Amino acid sequence: MARLKCKFCGKPAIERLKQYRLSLCENCFVSFYERQVERTLKRYKVVRKGERVLACVSGGKDSSAMLAALKKLSKNLDFSVEALHIDLGIKKDDYSKKSLEVAEKVCRMLDVELSIVDVSEYGVSIESFGRKKCAACGTVKRYVMNRFARENGFDCVSTGHSSDDIVAFFFRNWLSGNFDWSTKFLPRTEGFDKVVTRIRPLYFLSERENALYCVCSKIPFLSDSCPYSPDDEWKEIVYEIERRKPGFRRQFVTNLVKYLKENSEEKRGEFKYCKLCGEVTTSDVCAFCRLREKSGKRKKRDVP
Ligand SMILES: [Zn+2]
Ligand SMILES: [Zn+2]
Repeated sequence: MARLKCKFCGKPAIERLKQYRLSLCENCFVSFYERQVERTLKRYKVVRKGERVLACVSGGKDSSAMLAALKKLSKNLDFSVEALHIDLGIKKDDYSKKSLEVAEKVCRMLDVELSIVDVSEYGVSIESFGRKKCAACGTVKRYVMNRFARENGFDCVSTGHSSDDIVAFFFRNWLSGNFDWSTKFLPRTEGFDKVVTRIRPLYFLSERENALYCVCSKIPFLSDSCPYSPDDEWKEIVYEIERRKPGFRRQFVTNLVKYLKENSEEKRGEFKYCKLCGEVTTSDVCAFCRLREKSGKRKKRDVP
């Protein structure tokens, strides 16, 4: 195979980005990637001037790439960024321990202040949820990041969702007839009441690009996936479509945002405050507190 050359500088390319019809070298890829994130932030007004952003870092490629890009862009776009790592207490394969170590390393390298919250402080243990661990984990993470951000005066919570996540999420919800998510899934979702604004700076970037950005800019990341997370079949379907139709993902999310912006008025249904913890919920007791109660009961049962 002939060696590919970087379209911008002529040096040997590290990757051919099919959807952009571009081959780039390491350095040019790094600036290309950062320009893509910057464009998302500006075009969709994802971050506003002077905002304090709380970036949730798991130690994985997506959130590590997100934190690095945000940190890089924060000066020019005039916002500040700090990081939060949620220690899920997963002992299997030392997963949580390894995740924490990487998150700490990334933050040290980027000179970003890191806060660590151990979910056991909130009275839950992921390990106590049998086969429902992943669903429980999602609920716990959303709850902790929102509460931590609000109690510590952040303007928004930033997560590392990629275009792969968004397309897979769309299919799963669309096919199960759940449309509640639609207004929530934009590059920026405004907060209300006790709910903090959520931002997704990597909305238009793929997992592959996030990993490549980490590699090219020497940002460490944990490549192990959670020992409990099942293979995501929808993700594999998304990869397959992308392989056959390069650019599919990007076009899909671009049009999804366009559609959501034009067709969904901000309708916010009734909400209540959780009887147990006071957070915003649609039922009497929030999903997190229901989990916490179950987790407590299970723990007791586990003790002989
Ligand atoms: Zn180059
Ligand atoms: Zn609650």
